[in-house]
Amino acid sequence: MNDERLQPQLRIDHTAIAANTRLLHSRTKAALMAVVKADAFGHGAVETARTVVAHGATQLGVTTLAEALELRGSGVRAPILSWLNAPDTDFSPAVDARVDLAVPSTEHLRAASAGARKAARTARIHLHMDVGMARDGAAPHQWPDLCTRAAALEAAGTVKVTGLMGHLGCADRPEDPHNRAGRDAFAQAGRVARQAGLRPAHHHLAATSALLNDPSSHHDLVRVGAGLYGIAPASAGLRFAATLTAPVVSVRDVPANTAVGYAHTWTTHRPTRLALLPIGYADGLPRATSHQAHVLVRGRPRTVAGMFSMDQIVIDVGDDPIAPGEPVTILGPGDHGEPTPADWAGWAQTIPHELLTALGTSRRIIRRHLTHPVPPAPARLLCTSLENTT
Ligand SMILES: *Cc1c(COP(=O)(O)O)cnc(C)c1O
Repeated sequence: MNDERLQPQLRIDHTAIAANTRLLHSRTKAALMAVVKADAFGHGAVETARTVVAHGATQLGVTTLAEALELRGSGVRAPILSWLNAPDTDFSPAVDARVDLAVPSTEHLRAASAGARKAARTARIHLHMDVGMARDGAAPHQWPDLCTRAAALEAAGTVKVTGLMGHLGCADRPEDPHNRAGRDAFAQAGRVARQAGLRPAHHHLAATSALLNDPSSHHDLVRVGAGLYGIAPASAGLRFAATLTAPVVSVRDVPANTAVGYAHTWTTHRPTRLALLPIGYADGLPRATSHQAHVLVRGRPRTVAGMFSMDQIVIDVGDDPIAPGEPVTILGPGDHGEPTPADWAGWAQTIPHELLTALGTSRRIIRRHLTHPVPPAPARLLCTSLENTT
């Protein structure tokens, strides 16, 4: 058993996810598919799915079938689209669970149709066209054939083509000419599908960036992930939902010129107090931020001293009379001056998506779901309970 008092906490503010969902929805006439892949970007897929559906999302999007089936198993009833599966997957459990399937190839189409026959139910599919990423959709030269075959299977009753989808690779740079090329390729894909006799209910191309930047990409459905969790330019008015805190494990007072951590890359320049936190790069804090990162201690930014260890970091807290058990805020929405996931991503030269999904996979971080905003870390919150039991 883990000692919970010594575990970092990732608190998820569902009022923020709800507000983000509503704000994103207000920016488009299209319906919203909420993307909850990778355990909702580390925020918890089942809990997030419930919140977004209650606040205007009408569909859910995930990568794998396992993710889709987990949601179904938890009682989520909204349409769910799964878009990355092997071409020879047995799709019958998915069809049986009414999971919609992205179909990027004739092999996937055959497998979806076979799954439908086995499940004795029509497979709902979204034909997936590559509009310029060379990643997971059908190549343009394969598209007409894919549409023709899908129309034949639709006539035979094994599949229903519910949607056409594409994905833009450069939508975070609105001026990039690849966006227009992608939109044009998607429009052309729609014409080819129509000529093949398909009449899909949904056309979807835009994700968060295109939703915010490019109304001409919206069609009737947008797939938003990042924005739900507050990952977007600050001007969008979205809010980060995750707050990460860790309790101080121990403190030590040290003189000036004390070398801290592996390889002695950092040295105190005055007598100071060091606080040890039970979280490290194995929990998803990027080691590349050593010597740049700061955290919030008693409302003030404090430097992370030296290299990050796998399971621990050391904070230089100056003359703060901080005690074991006291929570330190590592990141949050920024309300109280704490660094945000965007700050951390900047230090690590990555994107907040990578940071948040990594934190979400740590089995040592306790995740808590709140239906109110996260209050500032109270000083000595956990201290009493530590003292009472030791
Ligand atoms: C991740 C993903 C999305 C969501 O993109 P965001 O930028 O996070 O909104 C949409 N569609 C596909 C195919 C994706 O892989």
